[in-house]
Amino acid sequence: MNSDFSFMKTGFTQQNDNKDEITNMLSILNIFMEDAIRLSEIYTLHSNRKIISKEDIQNALKVRTFWGDNFWNLPNVQQRLIDTKAEIIQEMEMENENEMENEMENEMENEMEETYTKSQCNCEICTYMNNINSNWITWNPSDQINKILKNSIDKNT
Ligand SMILES: [Zn+2]
Repeated sequence: MNSDFSFMKTGFTQQNDNKDEITNMLSILNIFMEDAIRLSEIYTLHSNRKIISKEDIQNALKVRTFWGDNFWNLPNVQQRLIDTKAEIIQEMEMENENEMENEMENEMENEMEETYTKSQCNCEICTYMNNINSNWITWNPSDQINKILKNSIDKNT
């Protein structure tokens, strides 16, 4: 799997042997991925393109990580974490992890063909996306999860 997200999963699990903490981090990662895909869908539409490019996803993941819960200040984010964690634990117990990864991988690869163009739209999401790389470069997160996320994204973009 050489998509944008597998490296993050590897980065997480390599740095921690505690199963519960790994599950927590995988849950957060899953939610970040979902949100990044949703963000890049919006951005792609606003750029008058039909297919999400790799750069859209990378920028969206940076936006989601950089802005954290301030950006997606959704009332159900805690519930999503609980649900996702339960799903991950179930998947682990059923040893279906590889299947889940493959499904995600196929979905991602189908969306990676189009070239990236910058959106000229001025909405909040496009503004976040267009400015993310200058914010990202100077960002120096202090908490552990964001540190891991940022290092992983930096190594792979
Ligand atoms: Zn827009």
